[in-house]
Amino acid sequence: MDLGQIAQYCFNLTTSYLQIEHRTEVISETQSAIKLTREYLLDDVFPVWSPLNSEISFSYNGGKDCQVLLLIYLSCVWEFFLLTLKDSQYERQYHLFPLKKLPTVFIDQEKTFSTLQDFVTTTSERYCLSLYESIRDDEKSVSMADAFEEYLKIHPETKAIVIGIRHTDPFAENLKTIQRTDPNWPDFVRLQPFLHWKLASVWSFLLYANEPICGIYSMGFTSIGSINNTLPNPYLKIQPNSNKPRLVFQWEIDHAFGKKKSQNNSLVNISKINRADIQLLSGLQDEFLPGWYLTDDSLERAGRIKRL
Ligand code: FAD
Repeated sequence: MDLGQIAQYCFNLTTSYLQIEHRTEVISETQSAIKLTREYLLDDVFPVWSPLNSEISFSYNGGKDCQVLLLIYLSCVWEFFLLTLKDSQYERQYHLFPLKKLPTVFIDQEKTFSTLQDFVTTTSERYCLSLYESIRDDEKSVSMADAFEEYLKIHPETKAIVIGIRHTDPFAENLKTIQRTDPNWPDFVRLQPFLHWKLASVWSFLLYANEPICGIYSMGFTSIGSINNTLPNPYLKIQPNSNKPRLVFQWEIDHAFGKKKSQNNSLVNISKINRADIQLLSGLQDEFLPGWYLTDDSLERAGRIKRL
C-alpha cells in the first residue's frame, strides 16, 4: 500500500468503528473521543498547517498511544485530501495523493526493547513513514529538546509536530491541543489532539483495528520506557489458582476490522517478539496477562520502576 492507500484504509477503519452499534460504555466513549480528535484535526489544525506537505511532522515511538493517534490522523489526512478535491472538475481517481511518505520523528533516547525497535521499523513501512531516527549515544544522554533541535536543523520546513500524549500522562494535566513549545525547547507548535483519550479507549480502538500491536504489550507491559526502568505491570500478575479476569474488549477482538470468518476470531494481531526480549524476560518468576487487561489509567505506569 502507498501512503494514499493506507490513509484511505485508516479512514475506512475509523468509519467502521464509528458505526459500531454494539455500544458498550467504552465503545461509546471511544466514538466520542475519535470525533473530538477528528474535529481538532480537520477544523483547527489542517486549515492552518497542511498535512499534505511537510509542515506537520508526527512524533512516533511505536507505543500504543501514538499508534492509535497515527491511525486516526491518517484517516483525517484522507478526509482532508478529499476536501481539497471538492471543487475539482475531475473525479478523485484522476488526482494523485500529494505525499509519498509521512514526515515522522523518533527520538532514540534510551535503550529500549528490541521488539519495540523492530516494531518501529515494520510499522514505518506499513504506514509509509519517512522516519527520522535520532542517533543514540549510550555514553552521553541527549535531552529530547536537544534531539528535536537537531531534527529541526535537518527539517527546517517543519512548523508543527503531532504528539500522542494524554492528560493522564505525567505533567500533561494542563496541556492544550495546540500550543507552542516551552521556552527551554526549540520553538515549534505542539499538536496534541489525543489529550482527552482514556486507556480503555486506546485498547478498544487498537484491538478493533486489527493492526499489529507491539508484541511487548502481550507480555504484561502497559507503558514502555527504557529496558532499565520498565517491567511488566504488577497489577497484571497472574495469581495461581485464580480465574482469568473478564476481558473488557472481547467484542472488539471477535469483530475486529477486516477479520475473515475463517480466521480464529479470538486471536489478537501482535508483532513478533524479538528473541533478545524473550531472553531478557525469561528471568521473571511470574506470569502476566496481556497489557490490554488493564484499563485503570492510574495504574498504567505501575511497571515503570527501577530494576534492582
Ligand atoms: P509516552 O506516553 O510514551 O509518549 C507520549 C507521546 O510522546 C508519544 O505518543 C509520542 O507521540 C511522543 N514521544 C514520546 N517519546 C518519544 C520518542 N522517543 N520519540 C518520538 N516521540 C516520542 N516537554 C516539555 O516540558 N516542554 C515542551 O515544550 C515539550 N515539547 C515536546 C514536543 C514534542 C514533539 C515531543 C514529542 C515532546 C515534547 N515534550 C515537551 C515532552 C512531552 O511533554 C512528554 O514528556 C514526552 O513526550 C514523553 O511523554 P510520556 O512520558 O508520556 O511518554
